Parts: sequence; C-alpha cells; structure tokens
Amino acid sequence: MNQCPLRTSVIGSYPFPAWLEHASQHLDRFGSEDRSELQSDAVTCAVKDQLAAGLDVITDGEQSRLDFNLSFYGYLQGIDLESASPRRWGPPAHDQRGRHAVVAPLQAPRGLGAVEEYRRLETVSRELGAAGRVTLKASIPGPYTLSGRLLPNADLGYPDRWALTEALLPLVRQELEALVAAGCREISVDEPSMSCYGYREEVRRFVDLFNRTVETVTGKTRVCMHLCFGNYKARAIGPRQIAPLFPAFLDMHCDEMHVEMASREFSELELIAQVARHRDVAVGIVDVKSYYIETPEDIAARVRRCLEYVPADRLVLAPDCGLSQTARWAARRKLQALCAGAALVRKTL
Ligand SMILES: [Zn+2]
Repeated sequence: MNQCPLRTSVIGSYPFPAWLEHASQHLDRFGSEDRSELQSDAVTCAVKDQLAAGLDVITDGEQSRLDFNLSFYGYLQGIDLESASPRRWGPPAHDQRGRHAVVAPLQAPRGLGAVEEYRRLETVSRELGAAGRVTLKASIPGPYTLSGRLLPNADLGYPDRWALTEALLPLVRQELEALVAAGCREISVDEPSMSCYGYREEVRRFVDLFNRTVETVTGKTRVCMHLCFGNYKARAIGPRQIAPLFPAFLDMHCDEMHVEMASREFSELELIAQVARHRDVAVGIVDVKSYYIETPEDIAARVRRCLEYVPADRLVLAPDCGLSQTARWAARRKLQALCAGAALVRKTL
C-alpha cells in the first residue's frame, strides 16, 4: 500500500533537452566518455525538473535511451537493427517505425541496460541531495510490448508475436531480478500494448504473461504496471477502452496498476474502484497529449472525482503516459500543477 495518501508519480520517460536531441542525432561524433557524460547531464536535468515539481516518485526520464543501440533492442542479440521505415512521409505516427528482423535466437548476455540506468539515477539523485526524500523508480517495457517491434521468424521457432514474447520473457525477468539485487525498490513494467490490443486478444493470456514476468520479484520490490493506448508522436492506437481488460486484469500480480484517464475525459473511471480493492491504482490525471496546461484547481477537481471511487491511500496520481512526446516547458508546468493540485486536496483530507 501507499506510504502517503495521493502519492504523486510519473511514468518513465521525460522530454530530452534540446541539446540532447541534437546530440543524439550525431552520436558518432562522441566518444564513449562523452556519451556517458551526456547521459548523466541529461538525467540531472530530468531529475531537477521532477524534484522542482515536488513529486514523491521520480525516474531517470529514460534520458539515456538515445537511439536503438542504447535502447533495449540494442542489448538484444539475435536481431538486425537495420529496420527500414515502411512509410517515410506524411504525418508522423507509429506506422513510420520499422520492425527489426530476428536473425538468431534472442539473448541478452549483457542484460537490458536498466540496472546501469538505475545506478545513474541513484548517483544523480544523491548529488542533488534528493536521496531518501523521493522514491526512485525504474521502468522497463514488458515482453509483450517489447515484442511488438520484432518480426516473427518461424525458422527460428518464433512463428508469431506470442512466441517472440515467450522468448523475451526470461530476459525481462532477469533484468527485474538484477534491478532488485541493485536495491531498486519500485519498478514499473510497462505493457501499453496489452491495453492497445486487449479488445482483440485473449486477455487471460496477458495476465498469465505478466504474472510469469514478475513472479521472482513479487514481494521484493513494489511492482507497478503501466497501461495506456499508445503515445508515439502523441497518437493513440486501438479503441481507447479499458473495460475489455476486466475482470481478468484484477488477477495481475502488481502493487500498482496505472491507467490512462485524462485524455479520455475520465471515461470508465468507475473501474478504478475494482482495481483498488486489491492494489493501489495510479490514475492518469494529466493529459500528456494536450497543450492545455492543467491548473492546480483542475487537478484537484479530477482527484476529487477519483476519491468518489477509491480512498486516498490507494490512489496514486500520475500523467497519462511518459512525457517524452510533450515539449519540456509544458511537461514541467504539467508536473508542477499535478503536485500543486495534489497538495490542495491533501490539505482537505
Ligand atoms: Zn504509455
């Protein structure tokens, strides 16, 4: 359960500073020391913004996942990173991201990089005097979501997305175990693909997948899961309803389940009552896709609507998704409003 009522949190990603985005397009001009410095400096920016907002839980903003090579795919052996974009022109969206060919058995002998990210976050937080004041959360995509960018290869025993997911599951599980061993006390396993495709898939299968992914770390760290309807270039995929996931998803072995709500004008909000019966529920209270900047009063009103269904000590407040697709000035102001709005309601509890 929550340590504090109306805990304020974030989903993994945060916008890159402009200089980092520029640098990430010219990584070949930097040496390994330079890259390491870039990553630490970027995490420092993200942590400073989150601390200034007053959050209870912060992340490294995924600032070191600069390109394919430095993201999870770069740690996977057996995939060909040359993925041509199927559509190169027109409005930016999901269908412009290519899928990687699987050319050998999937392995991750160096892990998936999340432990190194967590250690960097710890160091930066200590340097900024935040140690002990905030909870440091690591986030990692779950195997189903991670499999979405890979092409099945029947010759290698991966005939479909499910088979790819099964191959990735132990790799993700090992990374979770390594994070726990490194001292990480809160981990989000992001599975937005489950909410995006829940309308057409067997959702019990999702529950089984998730529970097997986290089975060795359950009870050893706070396990969170993030669900949303996609946010690449601030666009959604699939019908934006969580109802098809329930009641099956009530059997997910997680301490906190996050759902996208603000961009959907809080439709299906009543479902959070079911979620909160056995775990904390994190509600997307800030719309990361809209450039309307919520006021603290807007946030407070939204929180009060949630409190009609769940008690304050079961309710976590967060943005709808990571903020990486939102301009940094807007992300900063939205987080400040989130924390200010939470403070307004806490005063009245
Ligand atoms: Zn998301």
